[in-house]
This record gives sequence, structure tokens and C-alpha cells, in this order.
Amino acid sequence: MNDAEISAAARLQPISEIASTVNITDEALIPYGHHMAKVDTDKINTSGKRGKLVLVTAVSPTPAGEGKSTVSVGLADALNLVGSQTMVALREPSLGPVFGMKGGATGGGYAQVVPMESINLHFTGDFHALSAAHNLLCNLVDNHVYHGNELGIDGRTIRIKRVLDMNDRNLRNVVVGLGGRTSGTPREDGFEITVASETMAVFCLSRDLNDLKERFSRIVVAETYDRKPVTAAQLGPNGAQGAMTILLRDALRPNLVQSLAGTPALIHGGPFANIAHGANSVIATNTALDLAETVVTEAGFGADLGAEKFVNITGPAGGFAADAVTVVATVRSVKYNGGLSLDEVNNPGDDRSGHIDAMEKGSENLARHLKNIKSFGAPVVVAINQFPQDTDEELQWVKDFCKQQGVHASVVSVWANGGEGAKELASHLVDVLKDSDESVQPMFSPETGIRERIEHIVTNVYGGEGVDFSSTAEKQLKQLEDAGEDKVPVCMAKTQYSFSDDPKTLGAPSDFRVTIRELNVRAGAGFVVALTGSILTMPGLPSEPASDNMDVDEEGQILGLF
Ligand code: ADP
Repeated sequence: MNDAEISAAARLQPISEIASTVNITDEALIPYGHHMAKVDTDKINTSGKRGKLVLVTAVSPTPAGEGKSTVSVGLADALNLVGSQTMVALREPSLGPVFGMKGGATGGGYAQVVPMESINLHFTGDFHALSAAHNLLCNLVDNHVYHGNELGIDGRTIRIKRVLDMNDRNLRNVVVGLGGRTSGTPREDGFEITVASETMAVFCLSRDLNDLKERFSRIVVAETYDRKPVTAAQLGPNGAQGAMTILLRDALRPNLVQSLAGTPALIHGGPFANIAHGANSVIATNTALDLAETVVTEAGFGADLGAEKFVNITGPAGGFAADAVTVVATVRSVKYNGGLSLDEVNNPGDDRSGHIDAMEKGSENLARHLKNIKSFGAPVVVAINQFPQDTDEELQWVKDFCKQQGVHASVVSVWANGGEGAKELASHLVDVLKDSDESVQPMFSPETGIRERIEHIVTNVYGGEGVDFSSTAEKQLKQLEDAGEDKVPVCMAKTQYSFSDDPKTLGAPSDFRVTIRELNVRAGAGFVVALTGSILTMPGLPSEPASDNMDVDEEGQILGLF
């Protein structure tokens, strides 16, 4: 059965029953139909005791993804099976990958969160609300210019772009305001995907409604003709932040659903990890930590992106730190990083000559990720996500390799077997969490400047030789340094396929330099985005988008979603 068939065959429990397993009463539950609900976090009863946090990250992925969401869900199910009361906190899926290339974000096989179709499509409408709030801000900027421009906004410097939660390359660069005097002032503009927007970052890093509003007020939207920053707070007599926040009052409540095994799951917010910070909302994680003994959460793409940002951006914003890290590795990613093609690793056939050689080479990638994650300070384990094409010999090879690196590894078969497939890893994690007081620590003191942070990340985490700043980025950096505004975290925007900024350089390269093309100040989010190489904040669809295979039949049944 495929993911959709497994999900369709599942018997879901009423959402109030799932809620009651973690002591969420009906008063705190705002149902959206029978199987999804928002949680009113002001009305939950907490014991005051905080759970332990397990961060799931991964090696550098193949284009299909190595199964972090799948393992997160399966591991949470397994932790419940071995007696640790566990919740999982995940990101909401973006329609970009759903209709583009990578697929959904609800896990797979027998380790899924459900109802899978609803979660992957519009869910409770959070992303639409986020797009509306963000576009309202853009609209208010243009409207201010149109009606007299009291602030003296230089239209050429408007940096906040409109958003859409789709891959649409045609909107990357557009001209707006055409049509004469009554239709605005023509200027070059562009769209970003919602999940890369500052509104999304703010939503996911805010601890409550007030924090959300405060952060919105700090968003820098443009510059004046005399080069002064203009913030959202300056638009109109009361600023734009109140109106933006109205649109998100309900969305800011985390969404409760369940895994196929009935594990309560909070799914909320969804920034990408390559062009944004890559973790679900801190409200969802904090709520889960208040309610459960153990919380499993996921940071997107490889550990060079998601985990680094979790340690340096998400954790400090949310006031939590991971107590253990689970690294998802796959035989196919090890082979792929060793030079085999996607087709060779997915359809290896019987003649696997050269595959172990490729694994020896590709394991350098796993080794570098393990070394990095160990340096974050919390205990590390590896989950080897078993795929149908893997042989016992190959799985054992990865296990032995991890042992040589001093890291415990378990083969997990949650995709095929649900929580039963990760019981060994879950028991090991329970022991590790009991025995250890260590948690991941941010890599930088708050006083560290952007230049030093970027150089440290490139040379230490990515393993490169150094950083080149384009003349634009150098100018932006100098401006920030001169204004004393450079002591903030950096959100690196980099390809997920390579430690370098070139998606084709796989494995563990070290003879490379990373080019910083541009810096984008995200004062509301509290970080600066550093765009490397040719990374884009509005993706395009591939030549054969996933939507090609999708349909709905006469009974309204969705076909070909995954
Ligand atoms: P990630 O979170 O790392 O991007 P996902 O968990 O979303 O990865 O999985 C990516 C895709 O791979 C999904 O379609 C999922 O069903 C599939 N998948 C994950 N693990 C396995 C597995 N062990 N065997 C077969 N398919 C898998």
C-alpha cells in the first residue's frame, strides 16, 4: 500500500480522545472537524514539569528526503510503546513541495500523522492566514507611498516582497503598479514562497501573541530617501503590526492531530530549512514540553542547515534546548554522497558491485555531520532508516561505521512496521535521557558579530576554507557593523545537497569557499539571512511536477497525492 492508501485505511480516534491522553481538556480544545483541533494554550493545565526534547536531524539528503518526518513520527510511537509518554512536534507542509518535487511532510508508510490529505493540503488554514498577514504589510507599504508618502519611502528600496505558498518561478521578478495614476507607482518587485518569509519566521519564533505583535512591529520594510530604515510600526498611526496580528490570532494556536498509532502530534508553522530557519513553532514545542515526558521534534534538511539553526536560532528564541539528537542516515544517502546516481541508489538491482566502495566514500558525509552534532553538546544517536532495497550487509555496514565514530546506531523500520520498528532505539534513548544532563548549546555568545558567525559556520560546520562576500554583501555588512547592528544570529540560506554552496559537490568537500551574495535583515525574526551561491527564495516547479499525477474521482476521493 502507498502512503495515501495506508492513511485512508486508518481508523482515527476522535481528536478529543487524543487530547485527553495528554491532559488537554475540552475547554482548551478548538476542534476543526473530527480529527484536527487547535489548542488554546492559555487553557491547558500543566504540571510545571518540562519534558525532555529529542531533535531529529539528518545527513545531507538525496532529492527525495531521507525520512526525518517518518522517523520522527515512528520514534515518537516507539517511545510511547516503551513507556515514555511522548508527543511529536512537526512543521506544517507547504504546497510548494506537495505539488512540486519532494512530496508532503506527514511521514510515510506506517509512520504517518493523519489525516494526511487534510494536513498536506490546507490543514487549518494557517499558511493562508500567514500569506494574508504578510501581503497586508506589503500592501500597506505601497499604499503609504501612493497616498503622499509622508515617511519618504524610496520605492527602489522596498525589500518586503509579497508571498504565495506555491513554487512559481514566473513571480520571482515582477513589475507592480502598472496602469497609470490610479494604480500605484510602478516598481520592480518579486514574490517569495510563504515558508521563506519573515512573517513565517516571526510566527514560528514568537512565544505568544504579544511577542508576535512586537516582532511584527520591528520588521524593516524599506528605506527612506535619506537611507533610514522604515519599520512596520511606522505605517499608519498605529503601525501595521496590530492588523497583521488580527489575521493570525487563531492561527497562532498549535494544531493537534494524531499519528497512525494515536500519538498526539502538534503540527504548527513550517519554515523551510534551506532558505529559512527550518523548525516548527516554538509555541508548539513549548506546549508539547509542558504536556509530555518526551517530545520529538524535527529540523529540516541536513544537520548543516536545520540542526545548526535549531541550536543557534530556534532554541534560544523558544527558551529550550535539545537533550538528545537523533541523526537519520540511510544507505541510499551514503551511496549517493559517494557518487552513485539517484536511480542507482533507489533501484540497485542484484549487481551491486561498487556499492560498498561508494559507501566508503559517501560515509565521509555522515562522519562530518556526526562530528558537528557531537560538538553541539548533547548525546547523539543514529537512526538508520531502512528502505526496501537495503540489504542486511549494507545496513550493518552503516551501523559499524557509526560505531567506529563512537555513536550508537539502530536500524529502524518504522516505515514498514510503525513504532515497533524503532523500539530498540527508543529504549536506548530513554536510558540516554535518564543518564545525561547535557543539552545542545548555542555556538555563539550574543555579542558575536555576523561576519564571525558566518566564517565560523562555513569553516567549522561546513568544513570549507573560507567566505567571500560579494560587493553588495560587503557593503550591507559594513553598514550593519557601523550601526552596531551586526550582533545577531545568522540564518544561512544554502543548498541542502552539499556542505558547500554548490548543490553538485556531494560528500564531504573541504577545498571550497562559500560566496555570500546578499544579506537580508529580518529584524522581526531577530536574524540576518545570508544568501549563498545561487539559492532562491521562490522555487520553481520541476519538469514533471507531482501535480501531474493528482486527481479527484467522482466520489471526491483524492488520487495520486503521494
Ligand atoms: P524528510 O522528512 O527527511 O524530508 P520524509 O519522512 O518526508 O523525509 O520522507 C520522504 C519520503 O520518503 C516520503 O515519501 C516517505 O514515504 C519516504 N520514506 C521515508 N522512509 C522510508 C522508508 N524507510 N522506506 C520507503 N520509503 C520511505
